[in-house]
Amino acid sequence: MRVAWTRDDDVWRLDFRLDADDDLAGTVTDGQRVRLATNSCRLRLPYPVDDVHPDLLALAAWTVVAPYTRSRIVFDRPVSAGLAAALEEGWPVQAGPVGGSPRSGARLAISYSGGADSAAVASILPDAPFVHFQRISHPRVPNRWTHYRADILAKLAAQTGRELTVVRSDLEFTLAEPRPGYPEHHAVAAGAALMADELDLAGIAFGYEMGSRWLGGGRYVHRYTPDNPMWSADGRWGRLFAAAGLRVVLPVGGISEATTMRLALGSGLRRQVRWCLRGGDGGACGTCGKCLYKELIQAAVERRPLSTTITADRPVAAKWQQPPPYGGQEMIEYGCARVPGIETTPFARAAEHLRATEESTRWLDHCYRPALDEIPDPWRKQIADFMAEEVGFMTEDEARRVESWGQQ
Ligand SMILES: [Zn+2]
Repeated sequence: MRVAWTRDDDVWRLDFRLDADDDLAGTVTDGQRVRLATNSCRLRLPYPVDDVHPDLLALAAWTVVAPYTRSRIVFDRPVSAGLAAALEEGWPVQAGPVGGSPRSGARLAISYSGGADSAAVASILPDAPFVHFQRISHPRVPNRWTHYRADILAKLAAQTGRELTVVRSDLEFTLAEPRPGYPEHHAVAAGAALMADELDLAGIAFGYEMGSRWLGGGRYVHRYTPDNPMWSADGRWGRLFAAAGLRVVLPVGGISEATTMRLALGSGLRRQVRWCLRGGDGGACGTCGKCLYKELIQAAVERRPLSTTITADRPVAAKWQQPPPYGGQEMIEYGCARVPGIETTPFARAAEHLRATEESTRWLDHCYRPALDEIPDPWRKQIADFMAEEVGFMTEDEARRVESWGQQ
């Protein structure tokens, strides 16, 4: 794989060319199969930036081309030895040319999507600036995803009143299959990487919560995953970001989606929180699968009946009519144990299968301490203090629920 960046005013354009042994079909770090649609993409920065450190350009490019690269990555400007080493240790590739010096920064920014998890991060780090990724269409790929309201999400991010950098990009359209999306999940931070010198960044905080970090996440295997290659501090991506002077920080890595929901709805950002990608100015759509799943969690947190027009026979509710395992199953258990009248909702059959109780799901109200050990030094204390004050830590028994997840 060969990559090249060119700049035109506020737009940085990435072009890449596959080597003979590269493949249009690829596999993402989480195991998802993807297929390439086109070999260029753009990142539109909020203002023209002349110079971006080569390690940051290389990091951003790698989040786009990694799935298709088999044995070699050639950048258009020399990267630091540390960055090349992180690539070569994390993937079976040769990386170069090598020759630059490493970079560093001082501040922590939040990769802010506007969902409950990133709003919870924002409440933990009230002074951290936001970097928001906004999807825009690609000039060479038809947009069949016009229902995805990236404009609304960017508007809501602006309404938070926080220091905000919006980077607009069509990089998701480099994916033909399964659908437009981040080539690697880390591509959400490609814009933050390009702005990292401007913003003097030393780290990026993501809203990946305990399910994504420790319980196998929604998309991949449903089990305890201390060595998660996506989000563990010493996994391949954690080391690559660190080599580019940008530490990955997961402030909510030790708490569940129920707890991030509670924190987000209890924060000053409550009115801007939006997990639905389809809703317009009037609010969430209320009819998509994400709305149904999040409504279960919100109803559980608020200890009220489910409020939805979705019935069990709708396609978006189909998976809950099947036996487990489910993606995000810990949250289905939590919701089924706490929502009054669950037997009259689309989750009735799941509830019968899971037989969860408040007692069996109480661990999801507390913080899993090992998640704090992964947070880099300059930011660990602030986050640990918040968890002690606002959440509380798991008992040993509760921590064992995390560590035996998927094995019962
Ligand atoms: Zn929705």
